Amino acid sequence: MAESAENPITPVTGSDAAEGGATTAAGAGLPVPAAVDGIIIDHIPAGGALRLLDYLGIDPTEEQVTLVMNTASGRYGTKDIVILENIFSVRGEVVALVAPKAAIDVVKNGVIVSKTEPEPARLLEGVGHCWNQECVTNCERDVAPRFYLVDEKKVLYRCAYCDSEARI
Ligand SMILES: [Zn+2]
Repeated sequence: MAESAENPITPVTGSDAAEGGATTAAGAGLPVPAAVDGIIIDHIPAGGALRLLDYLGIDPTEEQVTLVMNTASGRYGTKDIVILENIFSVRGEVVALVAPKAAIDVVKNGVIVSKTEPEPARLLEGVGHCWNQECVTNCERDVAPRFYLVDEKKVLYRCAYCDSEARI
């Protein structure tokens, strides 16, 4: 399968890493510095990286963020990769809204210590923006965006107020 050839990362637990079975982020083909400490979010649909940072509430002018945009991907044709230095957890359900097929790798000193896939939440509140300009969430200051999951398989959300489809 092209998938495994493209991204041959195997999960590495803390104890495996100590026994020398470690997979380094650079060794796994990720374009990162050897000693990266933080989180790598791989397999973001191309063009989604900045929106993902916005949704996660991460300000690229204040945090050490590396963006790899429009690189080749077996899943999407092209993809974005976000590297967050010195950040060790992100809200997986928020990642799922923008990049349901993403891989979230926690990296310590260049070694991948955990690898997870984002789990979509049934309801997401206070994250994102409704695309319908006339939606109450865009017209009233006090109404926070709220999206509910309508299709778990496709990870499709709709606005809880106007029913517009959430788009990346
Ligand atoms: Zn709406």
